[in-house]
Amino acid sequence: MPEHDHICVRFAPSPTGYLHLGSARTGLYNYVFARRHGGTFILRIEDTDLTRSTDEAVVQIIDSMKEMGLHWDEGPGAPGPHGPYRQTERGDIYREYVQKLFESGHLYPCFCTPEELDAERAAAQAEGRGWTYSGRCRGLDTAEVARRQAAGEPYTLRVRVPEGRTVFHDILRGEVAFENDTMGDFIVVRSDGSITYNLAVVVDDVTMEISHVIRGDDHISNTPKQVVIYRALGARVPEFLHMPLLFGTDKKKLSKRHGATKLEQLTAEGFLVEVVRNYLCFLSAEFDESMITWSLDDLVAHLDVTKLGTSPSIFDPEKLRWMNGRYLRAMTDEWLGDRLVGYLTRVGFYGDPAGVGEIAAQGAQALAHAVEDAETEHVPPTVPDEEQEALTRAIAPLVHEKLEVLADFIPMAGWFFRPLEFTPEALERLRGTAGAAETLTTAAAGLRDLEEWDVPSVETLVRELPPALSLKPKAVFAALRLGMSGQSVTPGLFESLWALGRDNAVARLGQAAALLG
Ligand code: GLU
Repeated sequence: MPEHDHICVRFAPSPTGYLHLGSARTGLYNYVFARRHGGTFILRIEDTDLTRSTDEAVVQIIDSMKEMGLHWDEGPGAPGPHGPYRQTERGDIYREYVQKLFESGHLYPCFCTPEELDAERAAAQAEGRGWTYSGRCRGLDTAEVARRQAAGEPYTLRVRVPEGRTVFHDILRGEVAFENDTMGDFIVVRSDGSITYNLAVVVDDVTMEISHVIRGDDHISNTPKQVVIYRALGARVPEFLHMPLLFGTDKKKLSKRHGATKLEQLTAEGFLVEVVRNYLCFLSAEFDESMITWSLDDLVAHLDVTKLGTSPSIFDPEKLRWMNGRYLRAMTDEWLGDRLVGYLTRVGFYGDPAGVGEIAAQGAQALAHAVEDAETEHVPPTVPDEEQEALTRAIAPLVHEKLEVLADFIPMAGWFFRPLEFTPEALERLRGTAGAAETLTTAAAGLRDLEEWDVPSVETLVRELPPALSLKPKAVFAALRLGMSGQSVTPGLFESLWALGRDNAVARLGQAAALLG
């Protein structure tokens, strides 16, 4: 148990797009850590990079956090004592701290021009050594500073980095030490008055009373600079925990080359948010199958972020797919019906079953792109009408055992929602099926006259056809499957005919028979 009076952590994403899986994992671990220790969980939006931050992305991040169930105690929409929670709204606080640091002599103005700095850098490069700022303006006397300021020369503010080493404690790595001369006197206020990332983060973490900074280990090289600022402020340095980054199965840093790398893309591809959430936790944990269906509370009870290793975590979409299938099968048909309705609405299926079917046939990524485009353009998805919704729920049990991701529903069962249509190959196959025309007309007549419309009655009727028509059962089944759907792979034949409803089933088989005419 951490020895702080009050645990307070923050998740501080930069709103430059959908939530990256690595960030989602960081958010998750922060949440779990806070809940495990009865602490506070703050969501802070790091939007100081104005060129890349968008309000759109803020909304997307908030939605993803909510979808994962990661409720924050303080942050956007949850005001508290440490607000505001967007860096662009905290300018006054940063200025106050810059003033403090300046007055205590930890900052100095630097008048070096970009050209002068480039020349320094080029000289270092030519000599084959790494470049850090020479400290040329460190010793300017107050009179000269005043004169140059009065003359309107632009200047930045740099931190007077002390000599020696900066050592901090990382929960996973123990003591981490950096030589200060590899840092150089770094800039915290640019010549246009804007604040750099390292200063903003420290001021935020100090004023928000953050006890533990849990973030990706891509930030570890920023940490020594931040520690220098903490010390300059005389503030308590928090505990750090730098989480290992996510890698693909090829052991390279997870990127677009690996397919979906954002939570929203994965859910658009038909993965369940709770499975992605659990998978992100299990990447680094001993795993047994019962953990697939863990709730967030289970994660809080069992997941100890301080036990993470430091080697990169491998993200394997195939394993995620397998877990997703397991999760789906552990749930009830009714639950699956709900999730399918929600998913198919989101991907725009109900508004255009044929069009979305075509996109889905190009692969999961094509589907995710289409969803992303529609969401970016705020195209409201079409909600299902009563019939579509009832049909989805009736089909859910028929596909339950077969789905790995929700998107699998579309190639498997999308035909239920479209008028009967054949590709030339499918029609060829139907034509090549022995006794197809007779099978279709006889079955259509039989179904029309069936006393009860239920699965056992449909099954009895269909099973009587091969002996009655002197055909092989295989041929009869193939003709009916193709005849009702236009495709060779469908959910169970009897259940599918039943789910279509009598009129629809009869009409489709009749249409198919007519094509053979
Ligand atoms: N805004 C940074 C990011 O999105 C996180 C910084 C931090 O956690 O200190 O990577």
